[in-house]
Amino acid sequence: MSYDPNNIFAKIIRGEIPCNKVFEDDHVLAFHDISPQTPTHILVLPKGAYVSFADFSQQASPEEIAAFVRAVGRIAAEAGLVEPGYRILANHGVHAHQEVPHFHLHLFGGKDLGRMIKPPEK
Ligand code: AMP
Repeated sequence: MSYDPNNIFAKIIRGEIPCNKVFEDDHVLAFHDISPQTPTHILVLPKGAYVSFADFSQQASPEEIAAFVRAVGRIAAEAGLVEPGYRILANHGVHAHQEVPHFHLHLFGGKDLGRMIKPPEK
């Protein structure tokens, strides 16, 4: 899948659309999800043009990957989530219902998040 430079997160990174920013450095941008599913719901993006985790994990430089992972940890800590706990999640592709084709992690917290995956219905 080729990268679409007109996806909504690319526009946010370029400053064409506003966001409720949490963190920014040379490689990473983080902002609050517009439709939060938990009391804290932050999206963390690399600024590079990567469609998904599969793309980022294969194509990103070691510097970009290190900056991204460090930023996720720092953002979680600065949001006060380390002690009560948090969940990070990335949707890749159709089975995961990825909506925006620019790689991002969801950072969820602020309440007991329950079990990771809903058990199958009987
Ligand atoms: P995903 O299904 O992993 O691609 O998730 C995309 C997420 O982006 C959803 O949780 C949306 O609520 C969120 N989202 C979409 N547009 C915006 C926006 N303009 N600002 C902040 N979050 C957004």
